[in-house]
This record gives sequence, structure tokens and C-alpha cells, in this order.
Amino acid sequence: MHQVYIRTYGCQMNERDSGEVARMFLERGGYRMTTEEADADVILINTCSVRDQAEQKAIGKMRLMGPLRHTKPHVVFGFLGCMAQSRGSELLGTVPHLDLVAGTQKYHRVVDYVDTILKRRIERRMDDERFSIVDVAEEEGSQNTIRHQEVEERQATAFVSIMQGCNMKCSFCIVPYTRGAERARPIAEIVEEAKGLAAQGIKEITLLGQIVNRYGISEFPAVGGHSPFVQLLDALHGIDGLHRIRFTSPHPVGYREDLVEAFARLPKLCPHIHLPLQSGSARILKAMRRPYSPERFLEICARMRAARPGLAITTDIIVGFPGETEENYEETKEIVRQVGFDNAFIFRYSPRRGTPAADLPEHIQVPEAVRAERNQDLLRLINAQAQERLRAEVGKTVEVLCEGYSKTTTARLTGRTPQNRIVVFEGPHDRLRGEILPVRIVETKGFTLYGEADSAYSIEAVGGVS
Ligand code: SF4
Repeated sequence: MHQVYIRTYGCQMNERDSGEVARMFLERGGYRMTTEEADADVILINTCSVRDQAEQKAIGKMRLMGPLRHTKPHVVFGFLGCMAQSRGSELLGTVPHLDLVAGTQKYHRVVDYVDTILKRRIERRMDDERFSIVDVAEEEGSQNTIRHQEVEERQATAFVSIMQGCNMKCSFCIVPYTRGAERARPIAEIVEEAKGLAAQGIKEITLLGQIVNRYGISEFPAVGGHSPFVQLLDALHGIDGLHRIRFTSPHPVGYREDLVEAFARLPKLCPHIHLPLQSGSARILKAMRRPYSPERFLEICARMRAARPGLAITTDIIVGFPGETEENYEETKEIVRQVGFDNAFIFRYSPRRGTPAADLPEHIQVPEAVRAERNQDLLRLINAQAQERLRAEVGKTVEVLCEGYSKTTTARLTGRTPQNRIVVFEGPHDRLRGEILPVRIVETKGFTLYGEADSAYSIEAVGGVS
């Protein structure tokens, strides 16, 4: 039995892809998963390309594991995912002991490739030394290959990949070059997968895509004024046993009227949206090739809050994009103050090789010290806002879907509210994992709510107590 170790860097999409690769190894037979690198016969790193730092981390990790070959000559080393896609065979020169480079449209081929390499190594063929496989070609239908998953007993939540790729080409982003053009899975297939998950006890699904609310826009027709994404939400909403539906990552351009209205109409849609602002300056948004204005962004927030009272809004912001003046930065802060985000990921701009923004002239680059200062300054503002919103929860009873033990101790449990707020509370793990129950919030620490569960009952009806 060969042991497979998979290390994942990056986003939830990568986590989902790695999960699917692991499942395919188990399904093939003759393999089992391990969390110990030293025990592994197959070492795969699923990579992220969003920042150069993430690539360097993955390369560094792979180099560190090279000496394993001295004790196990047959061990197979492979890079999967975004960096594999963008760098391809160049990686064989960067990491000489590498055997496999499989791009973002090739996850379903990884087991075959590993089988082939392992077989050659075990048979000790003469040309083993240089034998490697690189496959980063486009493959029609590859978006349909991430579709099964192993569900643990009493597992509460699952990710469902609904599309791949992005056509937007924001000037700072590598994703369109690593994940390719937008390709959607058919609605019927996604619904079938979600039904299967619900039948196994999953209560919450998160739909995944690089630009999820543009799902199917160029492949499937609108019906009755509803975009393919809203049609998908409607279909998923009808699944018995499924209580919560989330999605990530969306784009402001995808929040059209039919989606806003869906939030008013479909109670299983969680009252939380992630709405990437990136900048509050119209000039910088244009340079980023983000096709909306700050005013339109504010309008979407207002309409969404009107459609779904109690809605939580989180965002992504880049500070220090080339050409960002102090005035432009203040415009971003002004939007942040006006929206009152529940939380935000703030990124200090750094040029990403292979993106249009990386070629912008030196004289418009924002000095590193200024980028760092804006990053810290914005963090302070966002954190203050976020903590004020969390404090407002103290004393309320909220609906929590229990996901299992808390990260730090098995003495407590953790789960999330419909607004995606993390709650830690005490209770019997065996009974509460996978249950939706009311928790009374007693305090906040950092970005976590702490509460007391009433374990006498669970709420099975959607919209119970939030
Ligand atoms: S919409 Fe998102 S994934 Fe697509 S290019 Fe822009 S930032 Fe990248």
C-alpha cells in the first residue's frame, strides 16, 4: 500500500481540488493518505500563484523534502495546481528531483500519472533518473471532474465546485492565466452532487468558483430574467435536508437585480456576502480593470442590506496599487467607513509576475513603507469596525451550525452563524456535531464569539433564531 501526502496552499478551491485528488487515490486502491511526509511514497503539493511568496513557499517546501529520496528511491514528487499551470516544465529545472507537474485542468489525471511514475521507479528502469511528466494543457470538460467527495460521519459542511476560470482579467491578478477561461458545470450535475451531500447529512454547502456569481453566463441562457447562477440557487434551495447555501468568490458585477431579489426570496441563502471592493477610488479601480464605480459598490451594499436585513458584508482591499495617491487611499477609507464591513482581507500590493500591472512603470509604484503604513492603518479601521459589530452580538441567541471541536481544544465546540461568524461553546461533541442549534452569546475575544449552547434541542427549521 503506497502512502500519499498532499500539502495544499491557497484558497478553498485548492482545498476542494486536493480533497478530490485524495478521494481518487483511495478509489483507485493500493493507496492510503498520510499526514506524515516522512512516511509518504507520493508527495504532492497543490500550489497557489496569487502571490509570489506563495510560490516561493511551495518551492522551498518541495526542496526541503528532496532528501527523502535517499531513503526511499521510489518516492514520487509532484506539483499540482496554479503554480504548476503557470510555470510548467520550468519547475523541473527549479526543483531537480521533481517527477510530476500537473496543471489546474489535470487533477483527474494525477492518479494515472503517479501510477506510471511509481511503476517505472519500482521497476528501476535505466532512464528513471530523468523520467517526469508535465501536463498543463487545456482540457475540455475539466470543470466537470471535481464532483465527488468523501463525507465523514456527522460532517456539517461541504464545498461544491461549480465552475472554473475567470474572464475578467483584473490587471493585478494571475488567476485568468492559471485557471483559464470561465467554464461552468451543468446545473443538473451540481444539484445531483448537492442532493448526495444532503442525503449524507451535510447541512451547509459553499459553492466555489473564481467568479462564482457569473456562473454559466456565457454558456447557459437566462430564464425568466434569472441568470444561470440564480437558476442554480433556486434549484439548490429546493433540496430537502440542505439548510444553508453560501458562495465564494463573487464579483460586484455579478450582483444584478435577480441575485439581490434572490436574497429576499430564498431563506436558505445565508445572510453573508463577500463583496471584493479592492479600492474606493474610481481612478484606481479603472487601473485595476475593475468595471464598477465606488458609487455602484455602495449601491449594491445598500440594496443587499435592504433585501436581507442583518446581512454581513466582508471584502478584499488592495492598498498601494501603482499610482494610488494619499487622496485615493482616503477614498478607500471613506467607503470602508460608509459600508461598515464585518471583516476584510487587506492586501499590500506586490507585483505579480505575468500580470499586466507588473509592467506598470517604476515611477508610479507606491514605496514599500507607504504600502505597509496604509496596510496597518486600514487594518486598525477594519478591526475596530469588525469588533464593534461582534460586540453587538453579545446577549443575543444566534443559530449555530456545529462543525466539531474548536481549533484549540476538544473541551469546546465550534460552529458558524448564518452571517459566517465563528462561535465557540461547550457541549457534547457526539450529539451536537452537524446540528443546528441556538447559542446564547456571552462574550467576544478577538474575532470569535463565545456562547452557551442549549443542548436540549436543535433547530432544524431554516431561519430559526438568527
Ligand atoms: S475577477 Fe477575481 S479571479 Fe477574476 S481576474 Fe479579477 S480578481 Fe482575478
